[in-house]
Amino acid sequence: MAFAAMGKILNVDLSSGAIHEEAIPDAIYRTYLSGTGLAARILYDRIPAGADPLGPDNILGFTAGLLTGTPSYFTGRWSVVGKSPLTGTWGDANCGGSLAPAIKRNGYDGIFFRGISGNPVYLYVKNGRAELRDASHLWGKDAPDAEAMLTGEHGKGARVAVIGPAGERLSLISGISNDRGRMAARSGLGAVMGAKRLKAVVLDGKLRIPVHDAEAMKRLSRSCNRWVQMQPPFLSGRAMAYLGAFMRVLPTQMALDGMLYKIFLRKWGTTSMNQMSVEIGDAPVMNWKGSSADWGMGKSASVNPDNIKALEKAKYHCYACPLGCGGICVPKPGAPEVHKPEYESVLSLGGQCMNADLDSIFHMNELLNRAGMDTISAGGTISFAMECWEQGVLTKADTDGLELTWGNAAAMVALVEKMIRREGIGDVLADGVRRAAERIGKGAGQYAVHAGGQELPQHDGRNDPGFAVHYSVEPTPGRHTLGAQMYYEMFQLWKRVRHLPRPPLLYFKGRKYVADEEKAVTAAACSRYMALANASGLCLFGLFLGASRIPVFEWLNAATGWNRTPNDYLAAGERIHTLRQAFNVKHGIDPRANRLCDRAAGIPAQTRGANRGRTVAIAKMMSDYWRQFGWDPETGVPPPMEREAGKSGS
Ligand code: SF4
Repeated sequence: MAFAAMGKILNVDLSSGAIHEEAIPDAIYRTYLSGTGLAARILYDRIPAGADPLGPDNILGFTAGLLTGTPSYFTGRWSVVGKSPLTGTWGDANCGGSLAPAIKRNGYDGIFFRGISGNPVYLYVKNGRAELRDASHLWGKDAPDAEAMLTGEHGKGARVAVIGPAGERLSLISGISNDRGRMAARSGLGAVMGAKRLKAVVLDGKLRIPVHDAEAMKRLSRSCNRWVQMQPPFLSGRAMAYLGAFMRVLPTQMALDGMLYKIFLRKWGTTSMNQMSVEIGDAPVMNWKGSSADWGMGKSASVNPDNIKALEKAKYHCYACPLGCGGICVPKPGAPEVHKPEYESVLSLGGQCMNADLDSIFHMNELLNRAGMDTISAGGTISFAMECWEQGVLTKADTDGLELTWGNAAAMVALVEKMIRREGIGDVLADGVRRAAERIGKGAGQYAVHAGGQELPQHDGRNDPGFAVHYSVEPTPGRHTLGAQMYYEMFQLWKRVRHLPRPPLLYFKGRKYVADEEKAVTAAACSRYMALANASGLCLFGLFLGASRIPVFEWLNAATGWNRTPNDYLAAGERIHTLRQAFNVKHGIDPRANRLCDRAAGIPAQTRGANRGRTVAIAKMMSDYWRQFGWDPETGVPPPMEREAGKSGS
């Protein structure tokens, strides 16, 4: 491989301790790009059908994108991949920070682990020389503490991916941490790492990453940066909440230009939308059965972005990001510095549980980050337990004496601690809502909000049916970063891909719920684009700038020396997407079973609040979506020839 990719991967067999490099044929990159695309090919081919996700046959991969380490922007996300123990499907999660380029600077596009080590180990790689080392002294440590010990040993230049106690204890909602508590949280892949007794991956490399035309890439990046830096004066956090309330009562809405979100993101980070989302019906409330009528302005004011901004001491950027949406906060005078909680974390632990105590949200976010447990799934599981309590399915006898009433912040903190330690009721809840409902019985399943076993994020498909569709049809279910109607509006792909439809500038909200051909076309375009983005290492928020402002396709051509059209790249995205779906079919997953639960689809419709009267035609929308790829519209299964095409890229 001449340009942008490193042309090889590292394979580590933890059972035998064998480590070997493997050259990857150029044709693989041309077909699947790199990152999650390359990983899709490897995992599809090499994980045997029916493999136990926590067993030795599962493969856990750490990958960097095709654009990572080139002079492009927003390209510092790394991905972890494997068969998910939470859903049984293809699993992946990604994260920013500074880890991604370290994979390529050691000469690899990915590092893949199989087998199970007899004792805790970590992989240390320096400039492509790799060895397994004993990690007994790190086992049991919180993720940021273990990371500090490893950088103390190997130098501040070392980059670390590490699990905390949640992954070690095989919590199926555990993730993998880097940069002192940032998390590749979804799909439960921390448990796969824990099952392999792999505490950490430590990367210290300075190898050169080859690029076809660095000067052209820099020119493109400068042009993109003009849009990032454009930051007019704008509203306060409180005014945004009122704007949300105003938008809620309007019968119409405007197509969203992502430049607006970029402006919010640059000022506040992802928390910018906290209160506004509750008001417009984007953020679910009270385990998805409530609304802004239950958690109104008086309560949601606690998580207003200005309140969080006031605690921010410094902003930070991921590698190669000119925007910088991250922040370090000091939640109380004299308290230790912590990561600013993200939108998803604040509202999963906030409105979803009716909790208006911001201190407790900061505290739980930090506990979960340190333990390496997914805040989205943890919040979803706590709200499930609270509804079980409300319905009398759980009592004090089941909860170790905790009173799980809505908004009881002290009980929530205690529950988080128990989940991390797998103690009492915490053990029941530490594997997410589906497993918890099975263990609790007594009809608890009706309160378990998930898609395919994964707890849903803080974007309500009853407000934007595109979320409901993508939660249900993506090979890794329950994910909010792969598509939505508003994402399509922000991606503005129609400006680069002629056959894609341009949404009207202003439309009646009822239009969103009509299951027509256009919805399916735009949802499929989102999936193709995001598969391309994840294979390239791109951050979703960069893509929100719009396809005419972020030069994704031009960067790829300049980095690789290829001369491809946007359609060619979207076709590569489709191949990756098909291969991930084929992975699920190979492992016996029925794609229909990943459909999100009725409540989250508005079945029955809510009777008050922003999403009053709204039902998503989810079955038809799923079927229409699958038809776009030539898959069976009834089952979501790609035909054998398509599966083979996804596999071979022919
Ligand atoms: S926008 Fe935020 S998450 Fe994305 S790369 Fe930049 S700092 Fe990281």
